Amino acid sequence: MPARCLVILLDGLGDRSFPGLGNQTPLQAARTPNLDDLAAKGINGLFHGGRPGQALSSENAHFTLFGYCQTEFPGRGVFEALGAGINLEPEDVAVLTHLDGVVRDGDRLIVNAHRPRIEPNQAADLFGAVAEFETDEVSVDLHPCGGPDGIIVLRGELSPDVTDTDPSEVGQAIIEPEVFRNAAHPRRARRTAAALKRYLTWAHRILDEHPVNEDRRRQGLPALNFLSTHRAGQLRPVTPFLERWGLRALTISSGLVYEGLGRYLGMDTWAVTDGPDPGRDLAQRIGLAADRLKDYDFIHVHTKAPDQAAHTKDPRTKLAVIEELDQGLGRVLPDLLADPETLVVVTSDHSTPSGSDLIHSGEPVPLAMVGQGVRVDQVNRFDEISAAAGALGLLRGDEFMLLVLNHLDRAQLVGLRQAPQPTPHRPRKRRPFRIEES
Ligand SMILES: [Zn+2]
Repeated sequence: MPARCLVILLDGLGDRSFPGLGNQTPLQAARTPNLDDLAAKGINGLFHGGRPGQALSSENAHFTLFGYCQTEFPGRGVFEALGAGINLEPEDVAVLTHLDGVVRDGDRLIVNAHRPRIEPNQAADLFGAVAEFETDEVSVDLHPCGGPDGIIVLRGELSPDVTDTDPSEVGQAIIEPEVFRNAAHPRRARRTAAALKRYLTWAHRILDEHPVNEDRRRQGLPALNFLSTHRAGQLRPVTPFLERWGLRALTISSGLVYEGLGRYLGMDTWAVTDGPDPGRDLAQRIGLAADRLKDYDFIHVHTKAPDQAAHTKDPRTKLAVIEELDQGLGRVLPDLLADPETLVVVTSDHSTPSGSDLIHSGEPVPLAMVGQGVRVDQVNRFDEISAAAGALGLLRGDEFMLLVLNHLDRAQLVGLRQAPQPTPHRPRKRRPFRIEES
């Protein structure tokens, strides 16, 4: 039986059909002999982290893939802050931000440049000018994270239950920070929204008159004069991955959000960087994982490449990236598949449509699982349509982790009560019965 699971996660892999590709998805149209070989050797199905039709973000989809409920979700701001090495206190609120260009329309601010590329020295100057701010009750720190992106950390008695200000579209108005109707702590949420409004207003005035933006205007470029915010988060108690699933875990990935999610769940994390060849990157990451297989029970190897290719809105770009990834897999898969102790899974977190205004879309993604004892179905292609004919059917949410436990022979029989807190895995420790001497 396999002793450990390696999950190869191809981010945003799922897509829609395109007439230019013979009404196929980029994954269907791509030449992927190595992924197809994997599909032919194991069991196949579809996966959706929530409910089909729901367009999940990477952080929400990964959170459920790792077997956690959306009701436990702390907000992406937390993951990115932890990934960036920011020391969050329990009542801090971390909000994602990026530089946008805005123009006035009466008292509204209309986005005319959304998260554009920016020279590193310009970003440093602009972020540096608005790095710190204080109100009577709240202090604000801005942490640059590369390019136009940053993280705003608000300190005080606060709540993350406030709306985004980022409309995520050019031509739309910046959104007022508002309190959620179901906010758990309305007073704290009002305090947070008010502090954010004051900070963003102050920062807008400073950025608008900044010499970097004067220069940009002279060059005919939009001034980057607003910090749009989104996905506020706050730490909350969470059961570590080891405790919940009984598995020692490692994540190998290149984005702050994945590293931060790993840290949040108590996984070991290995940050890698993206090079020009995603196939080579993926092969290297799987090579790193292969070297550490003895130290872990669950290793997540991530590539963002298909998602990024889909955001170019060109299905052929995505098709080409998928073929590069398949070639990378070809260098490392034979050894992995020959190892009887490793359960190999290839899947994705969500679909990212190459031909839509949607950021992500709600179709499920293919999943193939190969390992000793795993049933072998009749699917021999790895794509969204072929996978639907697989023996797994549609897996949702934490069903994926339950299936992993099952194939590692670690699933606890439902009904046994060997610990005060029932777990889906066989308990690592049971409290021994002790004889009481009378
Ligand atoms: Zn994703």
